[in-house]
Amino acid sequence: QNNEMEIRFDSRSENEGFARVSVASFLTQLNPTVEEVADVKTAVSEAVTNAIIHGYEQRVEKVKIHCSIENQLFTVEISDRGKGIANVEKAMEPMFTTKPEDDRSGMGFSFMEAFMDTVEVESKVGEGTSVKMTK
Ligand code: ATP
Ligand code: MG
Repeated sequence: QNNEMEIRFDSRSENEGFARVSVASFLTQLNPTVEEVADVKTAVSEAVTNAIIHGYEQRVEKVKIHCSIENQLFTVEISDRGKGIANVEKAMEPMFTTKPEDDRSGMGFSFMEAFMDTVEVESKVGEGTSVKMTK
C-alpha cells in the first residue's frame, strides 16, 4: 500500500537519532530485514549530519525528511536550505571532504551509495541540497 510522511526538525545534532529512528519506524510497514533497516539508518544519519555540519555549518535552521512507499519501493529525501554544493560529482567522490580539519573522512556519500540502491543529489550554491535515496 502506498504511503508517505514528512518531518521537519532543527538542525541540531541531538536530532540525528530522532531522524534515523523516525525513518526506520516508517520503514517497518515494508517488513524490512534487520540489515535493510541498518542500511537505511546509516544512510539517513550521513545525510542528516551533512545537512547540519556542511549545509548549515552549525547554524540552527530546518532539515526536512520526506519518505514514501510506492509499489514496495522505499524513497527517502533529506533536504536543507543551506549553503549548497558547488561540485556535486566531486563531493561524492570517496574521501573528498571540505572539512579535513574536523576529522571528516569524506566517506558519507560513499556510505549512502553503498547502503542504498540509488542516491541522487540536487544542490544549488546558496539555495540548499537535497539527497534522494531509494531502497
Ligand atoms: P564524513 O561524512 O566522512 O564525515 P564529509 O561529510 O566531508 O565526511 P561526505 O559526507 O561524503 O564527506 O560529503 C562530502 C562533501 O560534500 C562535504 O565535505 C561537503 O563539502 C559536501 N556536502 C555534503 N553534504 C552537504 C550539504 N548538505 N550541504 C553542503 N555541502 C555538503
Ligand atoms: Mg558527511
